[in-house]
Amino acid sequence: MDINTLIRKEVLEQQGYRADVTSCRIKMDAMENPFTLPSPLKRELAEEMQKVPMNRYPEPGAPLIRKRFAKHFGVEADMIMIGNGSDELIQVMCTALANSSATIMVPWPTFVMYRIIAVNTGHSVIEVPLDAEFDLNLDAMLEQILTPSPVLIFISYPNNPTGNCFSTEKIKNIVEQAKGVVVIDEAYSSFSGKTLLPLLKKYDNLVILKTLSKVGLAAMRIGFLIGSSSLVHEFDKVRLPYNINALSQVAAGFYLNHIDTFLSQTTEVIIRREELLKALRKIEGIHPYPSDANFIFFSCDFDTDRVYRSLIQEGILIKNLNGPGILKNCMRVTVGKREENEEFLKALRKILI
Ligand code: PMP
Repeated sequence: MDINTLIRKEVLEQQGYRADVTSCRIKMDAMENPFTLPSPLKRELAEEMQKVPMNRYPEPGAPLIRKRFAKHFGVEADMIMIGNGSDELIQVMCTALANSSATIMVPWPTFVMYRIIAVNTGHSVIEVPLDAEFDLNLDAMLEQILTPSPVLIFISYPNNPTGNCFSTEKIKNIVEQAKGVVVIDEAYSSFSGKTLLPLLKKYDNLVILKTLSKVGLAAMRIGFLIGSSSLVHEFDKVRLPYNINALSQVAAGFYLNHIDTFLSQTTEVIIRREELLKALRKIEGIHPYPSDANFIFFSCDFDTDRVYRSLIQEGILIKNLNGPGILKNCMRVTVGKREENEEFLKALRKILI
């Protein structure tokens, strides 16, 4: 068998997503919440999970969770679909909207899974570089909207990896001009305090994505797609029937039952983010950008491949973004607990001497 003739060319030619599995004492690479749950809550969650009948399939479509989160987001239940992380929902949309000439458009740099999933589902991908302020390049995007008119446009709000929220006026302009679906990915909205959810009332080609991964439940893989009921109805046909396992459904309900605890952790992350930003600004040769998310993007006057490796030797894992164009010698650090941030700063200062 010659797999090269079997596997699609676009799949053969790409690398796929490579999560960094380097084991480190301090993990600041993946935008996880650094805090775990207080012990009494951990026990409560374990008790609830114990009640799950493991021999039975989970509820298809997680209807109870769908209803509760609809109320939480202030929309109707038929406007929500739950995914195995928002990654799965990106895949669902790309699959539903694929056709032989379909293109998707994304800014660059942004969350890499938009591109990877779009390629896997047979789309061609148009990447439009951000402007010098890391905002959307509106003219260039509008030009692409005219031809070949992307079926999907992904906008990360705040943007991963730059950490900023794009101008809402520009986003609205794109939603108004687009002939396809515009997805506003609000994975980090708990840290920005900004949401474009109210725009759903105005635009039927708008979809909002949310996730519980960044606020403390990354292990449970729970994401939300919110959009018009007619879009959700079609997307739901692409979803696998039992995509949300029964333990994750329990965890999603548990999140709402204890939302205050999760939100207080988010608030602490925001405080630590501002401290970390201030401290990074004081390090010569490090140029951090303000962040609306739970991570900080920075460029370096140094070779970041060396900085990345030296940090690992100190037991600290962050993301090395070093690449062509504006990513030259850039890195992204996820905000940690106070002591983790201090250790990271200490190690960075030591490495840069
Ligand atoms: N959207 C963005 C912008 C992200 O950065 C990430 C994770 N890095 C995701 C979505 C994926 O989230 P989930 O864990 O819900 O699949």
